[in-house]
Amino acid sequence: MILILGAGESGVGAALLAKKMTLPVFVSDSNAIRDSFRKELIDNEIDFEEGSHDIAYGISPNFIVKSPGIPDQAEIIGHFKNQGIDVISEIEFAYRYCRGTIIGITGSNGKTTTTNLIFHLLKQNNKDVIKAGNVGFSFARAISIKNWEYYVLELSSFQLDGIQEFKPRFGVLLNITPDHMDRYQNQFDLYVASKFRITENQTSEDFLITYEKDPAIQKYLKEHGIQARLLSLNPDFNLNEEVILDGSIIANLKNTVLKGKHNAINVACAVKIATFIGLRQEEIQSALLNFVNDPHRLESVGEINEVLFVNDSKATNVDSVFWALDAMKQKVVWIAGGLDKGNDYAAIEALVVQKVSALICLGVDNQKLLKSFTKIVPLIKDTHSIQDAVRIAFEIAKKGEVVLLSPGCASFDLFKNYEDRGNQFKEEVKKLSLLTK
Ligand code: ADP
Repeated sequence: MILILGAGESGVGAALLAKKMTLPVFVSDSNAIRDSFRKELIDNEIDFEEGSHDIAYGISPNFIVKSPGIPDQAEIIGHFKNQGIDVISEIEFAYRYCRGTIIGITGSNGKTTTTNLIFHLLKQNNKDVIKAGNVGFSFARAISIKNWEYYVLELSSFQLDGIQEFKPRFGVLLNITPDHMDRYQNQFDLYVASKFRITENQTSEDFLITYEKDPAIQKYLKEHGIQARLLSLNPDFNLNEEVILDGSIIANLKNTVLKGKHNAINVACAVKIATFIGLRQEEIQSALLNFVNDPHRLESVGEINEVLFVNDSKATNVDSVFWALDAMKQKVVWIAGGLDKGNDYAAIEALVVQKVSALICLGVDNQKLLKSFTKIVPLIKDTHSIQDAVRIAFEIAKKGEVVLLSPGCASFDLFKNYEDRGNQFKEEVKKLSLLTK
């Protein structure tokens, strides 16, 4: 019997795959299960419990598939680990049944964008490819549908934590900056090690692609060997928006939605893999031109009286704010704030001095931002609602400036999640544009 803990996308995906493989399975979720997932379990005759782990505690499973949302410290995990029962992630479970080529993407920032990009390049060029993992379908669900030739997997550190044999043919490790420290006992080294698990089972036939200038990655590589073939990329990005790698132009990002140096890095990784898979440069370039990213990532949402509004609500840590500011050619009225995850703003001070004409703090408690930037930004406003933030930003912004929502914080103080924050921002911009017509 396989015991699956958690009945979200990854738990239900794992259950569907187990069922397809005719393995006995039980699903247990300590919270209420979402209606659509409950229906899928019932329709597929998969046994489950919700609201508690009561039944699960009485089972002696062969192994456990843990959803990434359940921390290792959870009581039920300890209960089974003490009995010597294996606890694996849904990624590891799915891997056992995967026959295709895996491209796995991890990092602190840029995972979704790079996953979307690689998927798009392959899909546009008629490859049999699916995107899964931390985005869209779970890996297990993808395999339960059919065996695909290519799997492009976004992998969070929590998903990598529960692997044993999983390895991608192509691993991408974009960057490592402090995030989720609460789940790693506030020890950055533990988080770095978790990200590097993407390569722990790779052999000399596999590839690990990284960004050469990332200090945490470089430090780890100096101290630890890896077996995979390492491709450390250091792309240049020029004023014509060309991405240059080892002296050759590999892509042109003009007329694409991919703005800024950070996206040049994402593109370089994606192009490298697409080229290995056999796509030609023209095929890659034409696919880049019609690439559409998920919303809330440096998304242009409109211009009012020559002030451009950009929604980067997905920027929930300081590093992503760095790249957002770096990508702006104009002066910025910066809307930031929310739930602070232990932010250290020192790393962006110089860039803020250079780019930011005004800071609009948007959070329940703005003290840290106010304190960090009072002597640095000429004009600071303290707001507690998105309406006020957008309205005041627009009043302040001069023609030709950008109002950038790039919060650098989690959204849960004032919003349901980062999507809600981005959508409300877009709504307010729309209202403003009607008022100014
Ligand atoms: P993730 O899935 O890792 O959270 P996303 O692609 O959703 O990454 O982007 C999250 C935030 O990070 C966005 O604000 C985006 O503009 C920024 N970002 C994207 N790529 C990178 C990168 N290579 N380095 C740093 N920040 C990035």
